[in-house]
Amino acid sequence: MKCPKCSSNMEKVRTPEATVDRCTFCRGLWFDLLEHQDVAAKSAKAIDIGSSGVGRKYDKHEPVLCPLDGQRMTRMTALGQPHIHYDQCPICGGAFFDAGEFRDYKTTTIADVFRDLFGRDK
Ligand SMILES: [Zn+2]
Ligand SMILES: [Zn+2]
Repeated sequence: MKCPKCSSNMEKVRTPEATVDRCTFCRGLWFDLLEHQDVAAKSAKAIDIGSSGVGRKYDKHEPVLCPLDGQRMTRMTALGQPHIHYDQCPICGGAFFDAGEFRDYKTTTIADVFRDLFGRDK
């Protein structure tokens, strides 16, 4: 898989809950909605090793095309945490976080991120 921001190769990184893809260059993180929604925030923070400066640079990159299906991804803002932006695919639900963004995300699991988006009582 190629990074949707800088087109470098993505590497697999393991967390106790799932395997996530991380860019070998900009260190952005890719989460598949269905497979990785149980990744704990502390695991995500542990693999979010990139420079926030690089992340901020790529945060402004667009358009962002889904690395799985080529769909243009939608820029999202984390609920209540407007300094965090990420890109989500409207087709497969995968989400890309720039380096450093996840370290700031105050939530328990990735599932909470998507619950913020789609509503808790759906
Ligand atoms: Zn990259
Ligand atoms: Zn997709």
